[in-house]
Amino acid sequence: MVLVYSDNKNLTIEILSKGSELAREIGEKLITVIIGKNDEKLADEYISYGSDEVYIVENEIEFFKSEEFSEILEKIIKETSNNYILIGSNKNGKELASRLAGKIDAGCIIDCSNIYLKDKKVTAERTVYSGNAIAIEQFNSTPGILTVSSKVFDPLKKDEKRKGNIVKKKYDIEETSSKIIKVKEMQSESVNVEDAEIIVSCGRGFKNKEDIKFANNLADTLKGKTIGCSRPIAADLKWLSEDHWIGLSGHKVKPKLYIAAGISGQIQHIAGMRDSGIIVAINKDPEALIFKSADYGIVGDLYEVLPKLATALKNKIG
Ligand SMILES: Cc1cc2nc3c(=O)[nH]c(=O)nc-3n(C[C@H](O)[C@H](O)[C@H](O)COP(=O)(O)OP(=O)(O)OC[C@H]3O[C@@H](n4cnc5c(N)ncnc54)[C@H](O)[C@@H]3O)c2cc1C
Repeated sequence: MVLVYSDNKNLTIEILSKGSELAREIGEKLITVIIGKNDEKLADEYISYGSDEVYIVENEIEFFKSEEFSEILEKIIKETSNNYILIGSNKNGKELASRLAGKIDAGCIIDCSNIYLKDKKVTAERTVYSGNAIAIEQFNSTPGILTVSSKVFDPLKKDEKRKGNIVKKKYDIEETSSKIIKVKEMQSESVNVEDAEIIVSCGRGFKNKEDIKFANNLADTLKGKTIGCSRPIAADLKWLSEDHWIGLSGHKVKPKLYIAAGISGQIQHIAGMRDSGIIVAINKDPEALIFKSADYGIVGDLYEVLPKLATALKNKIG
């Protein structure tokens, strides 16, 4: 069987599309796991996105803890003889996957960028060396665990008529030695670059924090309103919060339109936005690497180009 779990609904739905392809190819059932509340509506939704069966594990656990969640998954995997386990590759998911791999003695491939069958073996690709190479990996035995980040796979079309089973479970979980005392939400500007359709992104080509208004103005004109940035803008200069940070160590995005202004195009930035629909690069250096990844390139000073582009678009689209 193939099992899918993530604590993030959207990520679960994305992984279900690859999970159902895999399950179909190896002729097995696709199971999704919900841990926490008895949420039958969510279970139905997972079925309409490709799951054959949904396990709802009701419990009182208030916060995610990999010790407890991995114990629950271990029990389900043993009951259902799962061969492949697909886990959402967010922070919790990565911790969960590696702990679970230790518990069930499974191989674990983190951050897969593709999963397919080759010579009848489940094969995964993942980018390594900061995006400079792709490793192709297979398991020597089952079970095997694969983690997948958001925006790697597109969800299947929702099919409300799809039928599946809902199985309700309760497990007694052993008390673990660690305890969560407090969970503090990260300060954020409620920006969700991962779901944005249009992103105007700022790099080190901006001289001051105030100048980001030029990017904001263009984003407003495009009715996109989402601002992204390269690592130095969020991590070093702190002109924008980390919610905006795009790249290998930031967010992975897949908008319809990505405009990169004053960004050189280092591989670590490209790793986070290369799947965008149309990429427009604005850079004053004609040799800038970003142009290699761009569909449209504007060689020029962003201080001239951004306002002119915003005005031209305003005239065109109103
Ligand atoms: C392990 C690791 C992980 C990393 N993860 C990430 C990540 O997730 N995301 C990320 O972005 N980076 C990441 N980096 C950093 C990455 O290598 C680059 O250093 C970074 O992306 C550079 O940011 P930048 O393009 O904004 O700045 P720069 O490389 O300094 O480029 C600035 C660009 O602006 C252009 N420019 C200057 N003035 C103007 C102007 N007036 N008009 C137009 N163009 C102008 C310049 O020609 C230049 O091309 C990572 C690095 C490492 C080692």
